[in-house]
Amino acid sequence: MNVEECRRFYAEEIRFAANISSRALIEAFARVPRERFLGPGPWELGSPDVRAMSSLGLAKMAYTPVADPRHLYHNVVVALDKENDINNGQPSALACWINALDIKPGARIYHLGCGVGYYTAIIAEMVGSQGRIVASELNPQLADRATQNLSVYPNVTVHAGDGTTFDPGVCDGIFVNAGVTHPVSLWLDRLEGGGRLVLPLTTAVASGRAGVGVMIQSIRERGGFSAQIVTSVAIYSCTSARDPQREPQLKASMANGALLKMKSWRRDAHDRADTCLVHGPEICLSQAEIA
Ligand SMILES: [Zn+2]
Repeated sequence: MNVEECRRFYAEEIRFAANISSRALIEAFARVPRERFLGPGPWELGSPDVRAMSSLGLAKMAYTPVADPRHLYHNVVVALDKENDINNGQPSALACWINALDIKPGARIYHLGCGVGYYTAIIAEMVGSQGRIVASELNPQLADRATQNLSVYPNVTVHAGDGTTFDPGVCDGIFVNAGVTHPVSLWLDRLEGGGRLVLPLTTAVASGRAGVGVMIQSIRERGGFSAQIVTSVAIYSCTSARDPQREPQLKASMANGALLKMKSWRRDAHDRADTCLVHGPEICLSQAEIA
């Protein structure tokens, strides 16, 4: 098989592995050359080291070096900076989360934590020339690489810096790729009616750099913001959207299973109630139905 055939097979594999309903998403996976985003080879493919599983759910990774770009078309992460645990993420997981954004042609999307831009390019293919993507990346080296890698997409702009304070403008979708304890108010403000926010709600684990938790999909509905779990997640942390007051509540809600009862993000001022799962100022993850 040549590299294009491998890419097509990989896209079809992701379709079934991640249960993807969006044909546009599968076609984007079949089109975007992953090798162009990863820098010159050889590369190192990572998968969880089953000989060293951590009880916290965050697996140590084992890496296999490869020099043939055809080997990049597997459902595995690719090391970008092994020392700092920075990888190009797992295709089936990212596909599942992008699918949860229900991206339409012409959509305006904010992608926070875009890394080297591979998955931003997948989204850019989906929104097409009428859509626009604003991507942000805190790590300056990664932001540089993303800017270069995405320069062939006129519908994408990359912001180098803290994506939690950056205003992306009105959005149909916001995709957060770093673990937080709560959404930033601005994200909810910027979502158009029917717009979707997909973000990882995590509690930090030992190293502090990464966390484990759940990927949440929120939809801006008439009466507020719904919240439901998409998948479990282990991901690099977003240090500027982590609240030490919320972290223990989140940990407790995860441990006792209460998190499964999430229904909405409350934004009204209220005292902590029985229905509050992760209560805090401005935004509270709640079991209450949208009013
Ligand atoms: Zn509350």
